[in-house]
Amino acid sequence: MKVKIALAGNPNSGKTTLFNALTGSNQFVGNWPGVTVEKKEGKIKGYTAKGEEAILVDLPGIYSLSPYTLEEVVSRNFLIGEKPDAIINIIDGTNLERNLYLTTQLTELGIPVIIAVNMMDLVKKNGEELNVDRLSRDIGCKVVEISALKGDGIDQLIQRAVAIAKTGKKNQPAHRFEGCVEHAIAHIEEAISGKVDQSMERWYAVKLFERDEKVREILNLDSALLNHIEEDIVSCEKEMDDDAESIITGERYNYIGSIIEDCYKKRVKKQMSTSDKIDRIVTNRFLALPIFAVVMFIVYYVSVTTVGSILTDWTNDTLFGEWILPAAQSGLEAIGCADWLTGLLVDGIIGGVGAVLGFVPQMLVLFIFLAFLEGCGYMARIAFIMDRIFRKFGLSGKSFIPMLIGTGCGVPGVMASRTIENDRDRKMTIMTTTFIPCGAKLPIIALIAGALFDGAAWVAPSAYFVGIAAIICSGIILKKTKMFAGDPAPFVMELPAYHLPTVGNVLRSMWERGWSFIKKAGTIILLSTIFVWFAQSFGFESGSFGMVEDMDNSILAGIGSAIAWIFTPLGWGDWKSAVAAITGLVAKENVVGTFGILYGFGEVAEDGAEIWGTLAGSMTAVAAYSFLVFNLLCAPCFAAMGAIKREMNNAKWFWFAIGYQTLLAYVVSLCVYQIGTLITAGTFGIGTVVAFLLVIGFIYLLFRPYKESQKLTVQKSIDGKVRA
Ligand code: GDP
Ligand code: MG
Repeated sequence: MKVKIALAGNPNSGKTTLFNALTGSNQFVGNWPGVTVEKKEGKIKGYTAKGEEAILVDLPGIYSLSPYTLEEVVSRNFLIGEKPDAIINIIDGTNLERNLYLTTQLTELGIPVIIAVNMMDLVKKNGEELNVDRLSRDIGCKVVEISALKGDGIDQLIQRAVAIAKTGKKNQPAHRFEGCVEHAIAHIEEAISGKVDQSMERWYAVKLFERDEKVREILNLDSALLNHIEEDIVSCEKEMDDDAESIITGERYNYIGSIIEDCYKKRVKKQMSTSDKIDRIVTNRFLALPIFAVVMFIVYYVSVTTVGSILTDWTNDTLFGEWILPAAQSGLEAIGCADWLTGLLVDGIIGGVGAVLGFVPQMLVLFIFLAFLEGCGYMARIAFIMDRIFRKFGLSGKSFIPMLIGTGCGVPGVMASRTIENDRDRKMTIMTTTFIPCGAKLPIIALIAGALFDGAAWVAPSAYFVGIAAIICSGIILKKTKMFAGDPAPFVMELPAYHLPTVGNVLRSMWERGWSFIKKAGTIILLSTIFVWFAQSFGFESGSFGMVEDMDNSILAGIGSAIAWIFTPLGWGDWKSAVAAITGLVAKENVVGTFGILYGFGEVAEDGAEIWGTLAGSMTAVAAYSFLVFNLLCAPCFAAMGAIKREMNNAKWFWFAIGYQTLLAYVVSLCVYQIGTLITAGTFGIGTVVAFLLVIGFIYLLFRPYKESQKLTVQKSIDGKVRA
């Protein structure tokens, strides 16, 4: 027998932490809503009865089983459609009132429920007391106290959950609604009897009472029956003087209030917690942004320029430069390997893939920082702070969440945009998410900062801020167009208390991101470098095709030169940079890998020049910065483009997004280069004039007024009511 248990609870209640603890899996623990949009499955560890297994399904975080958000729909479709054998309802013990709201609905589903009161470590630390037996009696199901983070109570939870799943004993919802509501519900149950699973009748009846459109659709009731039900609802609404949905909500909260009074003892004197004190400063109206800027500056500065670069210098200069490359070279020569093969292996593969791998240490340091900021609760504050800014131009902070996720990789970032209900806001978020520098762009940033700016402190952090600025400016400009106009959707999100994340969680998150990067180096980047090496080794020279002496005669140079002119106004119109930027579309790491081959990463060991020294001589600083900006903002890699295509689900929108990104990248890089050379070298020409015109146009788009008619568009949710 296979036991299937669903894990349901509010966002941030610790579902993913518990899921990982129970299954030994490495799901990403984040503390903003929407990280777990799709359900995930895992086998429960430590449950080893013979021939049996227990499967745990992690559902997206939800506050209720209403049909308003994608998470809610995914979760409830799973629960009513697949009927798991039991539900573990995880609730945040420090926030019982809000969490129990979902519980009152889950217990009506006719599926055995066990409640796991999580964060008990915090509850106890706050000096609060919970009477578990009373809670269990009041709500009518088993309750276990746990701390998912510390692993307390988990074994007991598994045992009990599996036990109730096997017996299949349903809990009887202890809660009864007001007389007339129960009366109507009883009528509805009778009317739909036989149409739904008998144990779920109550849940369906309550939903029909609430006039839940989706449930009406599923049941496909005939209109006579619907009218009959409607009569009951209307008479109840009259009696209670409220609309049906609010009646149910209100009753649930009354009931929860009485439970809490019965079994929860708060600390008498409510002092301001440390978390609140920190938040007073960190989310302060004036200080929030400067603090965020300083934090991100330090993160990028330390990971790219200081600690990270010490590690990277070592991998580049010592590990590759002194050990691997010479050893490979002489080893291959010793066994009499053909020249071209030695070239492919040393200059191509080790040079290309090695150049990329050299940046892994910097990336890991960055990932540690990001994991820490996410784990301790700071990033959740950033979404909240960004909400205040985004709201001013009509986007909600929810749009910032995909961008936070995108700092690891753009693909999950783009996918996280699914949680945004408003279609226009979602499209806009998809278009702008990849502006945030992802892990794969880090090598480009680190290379430019290190080789061309001699490790100047501002370069790496500035890349992050260029990304943020691109997002905010795009938001403002696009929101003023007819396509995207509209008021921001409400954004409700609660801020978890600050806490030190566990070392295990931080390392796990770092490793997960870092490993997928290393895997990529062994597959797609490897293939790309092989392609680039062949293309730069072969070509027509003195009338015949073959390996070329001079790389400028190669096929790659031919292709590169054919397109390089496009980038001349941006300051890097040589074929090598053009090719690097194009290979970056396959995977952003390729930019560095291609440079590694074309600028002889693999040959450095022989001529003794400093690693990347030849690259440094080939570009001015301004051109290099323009190159960096272009690669940060232009169309992302194939994988992310694929994600954009899937999420847009429309070819026109896909090309609009890619076109917009590339155009923006081109315009900004052009302005950087033209105005930059005017300042540094005093060069003035037609390009400078164009740049200034573009800047003026940009400023106009940024500051032109919103159209009056657009102000009036009020965003409505499915039920026609504006939800707050
Ligand atoms: P989800 O949104 O429900 O998946 O919640 P997560 O598993 O991502 O956890 C949200 C936050 O709560 C994370 O920062 C966790 O480290 C933290 N957390 C989870 N369980 C506990 C716990 O038992 N005690 C404490 N103090 N923090 C916890
Ligand atoms: Mg989660």
